[in-house]
Amino acid sequence: MNHDYIKKFNLIDQYVLGKLTADEAEAFEDHFIDCRKCVEQLNITRSFIQDLKGLAVQQTLFSENRRAPMPRWWHLQLVPLRSWAVIACCCVLAAGVFAFFVIRRFTQMEAELLQAKQDASTIRQQYQRGLETAADSEKQHQQAKQQLTQRLDELEQKLKSEAATNQSSVRGSEVPEVNFPIYALVSVARGQAPAPVEISPPASSSRFALSVPVEDRKDFSSYRVKILDHRGVTVFNRSGFKPDAYHTLSLSLNWNLLIPGTYDLRVEGLTPPNNWDTVGIYPFRIARRR
Ligand SMILES: [Zn+2]
Repeated sequence: MNHDYIKKFNLIDQYVLGKLTADEAEAFEDHFIDCRKCVEQLNITRSFIQDLKGLAVQQTLFSENRRAPMPRWWHLQLVPLRSWAVIACCCVLAAGVFAFFVIRRFTQMEAELLQAKQDASTIRQQYQRGLETAADSEKQHQQAKQQLTQRLDELEQKLKSEAATNQSSVRGSEVPEVNFPIYALVSVARGQAPAPVEISPPASSSRFALSVPVEDRKDFSSYRVKILDHRGVTVFNRSGFKPDAYHTLSLSLNWNLLIPGTYDLRVEGLTPPNNWDTVGIYPFRIARRR
């Protein structure tokens, strides 16, 4: 049994009034031997009860002394005067005990109220701290979000600039090349041994042009150009050419279209509707890149 339990259930009062069971009384005695507060309270309660009892006795004696000059009509009362005095004393005693316990209860309630106020204050402080913590974490969240947004913006900018760079490099391949080499091919006359034109790709240029002189005949509606490698495999075939004012076909090629080796360029003329005649054969040799 501990002090709070005793205080909560008013065990001191009940002990003095003899309302505890034998076990409870024993447990209480075990406690209050070592508890100064309980001993003090016990003494206060006891002396109060003693005082009330003394008062009751005095009241009784006082009414005994006053019995002699009792008026005659008192003898006719159903309840004797002595009993009235005892009843009055009992009432005073009961009122005193009642007042004592009411005051005790009031004091206890005041203490409980104070305790409740302290608890409420503690809870309010905890709530305030909780709010502050929440505000802190919200702030951190906002900062993280801001950093993330900034990082995203940076990445987006970087992507845009890279895309722009790529586009400009793509456009770079469309930029006209200056001074790319032009090779004039020569047609092989019938019955002559082919003498291929030597073509040497320079390191500085990715393209070269072939200039092919052709016999301009009115009956050809257009010309087509074929390039065959040394095994006779066609590596280039395009139609729709027309000779220029100098009776020449011009075509430009990428170096990577043709690997080093010997080729024949064949020009054919179209007679409608679908008749192709050979105009000329122009042998050339691609050398290894310098
Ligand atoms: Zn105690």
